[in-house]
Amino acid sequence: MKLRKVTAASATALVIALTATACGGDSDSGDSGSGGGDKIKIGIKYDQPGLGLKEPDGSFSGFDVDVATYVAKELGYKPDQIEWVETKSADRENALARGDVKMIAATYSITDERKQKVDFAGPYLLAHQDLLVKADSDIKEGTDLNGKKLCSVTGSTSAQNVKDKIAPKAQLQQLGGYSECIAGLQSDQLDALTTDDAILAGFAAQDQYKGQFKLTGLKLSNENYGIGVKKGDTATVNKINDALEKMVSDGAWDKAVKDNFGPANYKNEPAPKIGQIVQ
Ligand code: GLU
Repeated sequence: MKLRKVTAASATALVIALTATACGGDSDSGDSGSGGGDKIKIGIKYDQPGLGLKEPDGSFSGFDVDVATYVAKELGYKPDQIEWVETKSADRENALARGDVKMIAATYSITDERKQKVDFAGPYLLAHQDLLVKADSDIKEGTDLNGKKLCSVTGSTSAQNVKDKIAPKAQLQQLGGYSECIAGLQSDQLDALTTDDAILAGFAAQDQYKGQFKLTGLKLSNENYGIGVKKGDTATVNKINDALEKMVSDGAWDKAVKDNFGPANYKNEPAPKIGQIVQ
């Protein structure tokens, strides 16, 4: 009898604990979308200076961080209500499908293939695939990249473009993040790191790399950055698009460009029109 009582009490406690967890989970992921939740989880990159970077002091910087912070504010979340989550290139679709994050602003190109699995707001930036090479490299426009040792990231359009069109016979090494390619480039084990020019400019401008690398200036593709959300979450897509339009019209987009790309000397394209994809 005594034992049964204890068990019942424990069961009640367990139900309360589970209920509390479930509620916390809901508000944590900002499921209301329109704000009012405690927190919103946003996926970004942690290793891309100028776009999405986790600083040594634990703070976050970059154009994607600024765009996401602005969008979150429009959705009803203050900066201290944002929980940043690292979403590497290969993890993005799954992170959204699982509901790990409400949205992803992580140099995330809008593509037809990805649109099968996630929805996108935007675009909010147009970048182009390029090559980062050693300052003394002779790779330039017209150089055949087949046979060259290129490094890129698993799950990125950059790696896919190399295989599909840029140089199907290149020796392509695919790593987890772009920062992982840099050491191989420095030690001449690689001929080039290839991804979006905006990302490469951010690396090249880092104090520790100054003067060591150069961008070739080849516009190898159009990369239309969107903000990814869970497939079917049209309400959030619409709210994000409104926020992005406002960010451009009130000058905050220009300021974010200047703050983040200025130091890297990156010449960005003008703000894209919402819904207009450059093929
Ligand atoms: N923008 C490209 C992509 O979405 C390359 C950068 C990245 O891997 O995040 O795949």
